[in-house]
Amino acid sequence: CTTYSIWTSDNIVRSKFKDITLPKETLTNHIWEKLDRWADKPALICGVSNRCITYHQLMKFSKIFAAQLRNKFNISDGNVVLIMMNNIPEYAITLLGAAEAGAEVTTVNPTYTVYEVQRHIMLSDPKILIGTPDMVPLFKNALKLSKKVIPIINCSNDNSTIIDTVSFNELIEDSHVNMNVLNNVKRSAEDVVLLPYSSGTTGLPKGVELTHRSIVSNFLQQNDEHIRQYEDTTVSHQDSVLAVLPFFHLYGLAIVLLHKLSVGCKIVTLPQFQPNTFVNALEQHNISILYAAPPLVLFLGSYVGVKQHHFDSIRRIMSAAAPIPKADIENILKKGKRMEFLQGYGLTETSPLVTTFEIGYQNYTSAGLPLPNTELKVVDPNGQALSSNKIGELLIRGPQVMKGYRNNTEATKNAITEDGWFKSGDLCSINEDGYVTVIDRLKELIKVKGFQVAPAELESVIKEHPSVLDAGVIGVPDENTGERPKAFIVLKDGYTCQAQDIASFVANYVADYKRLKEVEFVERLPKSPSGKLLRRVLKENF
Ligand code: AMP
Repeated sequence: CTTYSIWTSDNIVRSKFKDITLPKETLTNHIWEKLDRWADKPALICGVSNRCITYHQLMKFSKIFAAQLRNKFNISDGNVVLIMMNNIPEYAITLLGAAEAGAEVTTVNPTYTVYEVQRHIMLSDPKILIGTPDMVPLFKNALKLSKKVIPIINCSNDNSTIIDTVSFNELIEDSHVNMNVLNNVKRSAEDVVLLPYSSGTTGLPKGVELTHRSIVSNFLQQNDEHIRQYEDTTVSHQDSVLAVLPFFHLYGLAIVLLHKLSVGCKIVTLPQFQPNTFVNALEQHNISILYAAPPLVLFLGSYVGVKQHHFDSIRRIMSAAAPIPKADIENILKKGKRMEFLQGYGLTETSPLVTTFEIGYQNYTSAGLPLPNTELKVVDPNGQALSSNKIGELLIRGPQVMKGYRNNTEATKNAITEDGWFKSGDLCSINEDGYVTVIDRLKELIKVKGFQVAPAELESVIKEHPSVLDAGVIGVPDENTGERPKAFIVLKDGYTCQAQDIASFVANYVADYKRLKEVEFVERLPKSPSGKLLRRVLKENF
């Protein structure tokens, strides 16, 4: 690999890898493009039921589903389709089908409460809801709360009828579908295809507009020969990837599922993380690449049921989405002696990958080098670019940066500078060779097991409690999950309340991983002269 200096005189770090040619095709066309080479190989296998679909079937079912969306549900270009389910093979068919139909896909955490689903529906304005049968009651209640009527497609793996929903199986088994409607789809690379939600540096979760071009660019960036984690799929070789990271989050969706489908890997889906099923799947499916977040690495290194032989087939393991303690990496490498460990760093807003290791690199605490076509700079609070090894906020420029936040020009303007630099909200340093180290988070975001928890969201729930006057939420360290939320609460005059009351109140409204770890009652919260909550001050004094 060329080793010319990657630092420019104005303190910008340029990727040392060869530029990609920016894609002109849509996500689905990119995935179908090379499919002939592996059409009869398995694309997706359910790690619990062993239900399997080949690449040929994936394309066929996705196209039929796409035509049905247009024919039967009047989906047109740019409509939003919402998917809420655990990892199963049908996730890929419905998502690619929706994209093929010209729709934009928004993904929802299947552990969300009815209130969180309602909010997601109100924000993203979907024209159709897709989920497994266990999601149907939630959908119905959320629709009732939002006073909306939206059709529901149920992805049941038997043919049982679920009242007031349309069966996914019946849709794709229909042999009289008018496929010509797909000729009316006029989507191009510049159009949005995915709409995941992220709170960014501040405030409530916002829709992140990711175009076909940004997603496919990020695939091509990962294909560089010096960083690619998979081996080419050939007649005699196919990498197996275990998809346990949930598809609602962009790491699981884009890096594990969609990118690996674009290069012909076999994806083994696990709907939930359960130690025994997980360990069995590693062995049974000869997993060669394992994508993890830090809590999974901790589990694999420390759980006695995970033995050296479980790692026999694994060539590489990647951790991303949150900081990982060095000891956890060392523990896992003691068990998987032949495994290569890598880190990746990225954000929902960057499709998601920004940096990763060059193959063979072993400074595990680093987050890696910028991908092809990616420029980085570390800036001080005045926006001045700093030289190597200085700490400041990391800014990112490249084709993988989002188009913007949906219907939120102000948040978009705050996140992306006029000359295209996206502000990560992470405190980082970059060494002379271009390797990035993530030091801390400048933004308010809390990461629990690698998933986002927005303090503003929890604060607004807590403020609904009848005894609460004001609330501030920050993340505090947690051995198992990285961080968990802690709330500081000011009670209304004359009211009393126990910490447990607040914690239980919050638990009614939010998914389990957002629940409060601690509650502390205080006289007042630190505020700026304009009344803005100073979460940094809370953090420094907690
Ligand atoms: P998300 O949008 O949920 O993917 O969250 C993005 C955030 O996760 C980043 O801004 C970082 O704060 C954090 N993050 C992602 N990858 C890493 C990593 N390798 N090391 C430390 N933090 C990370």
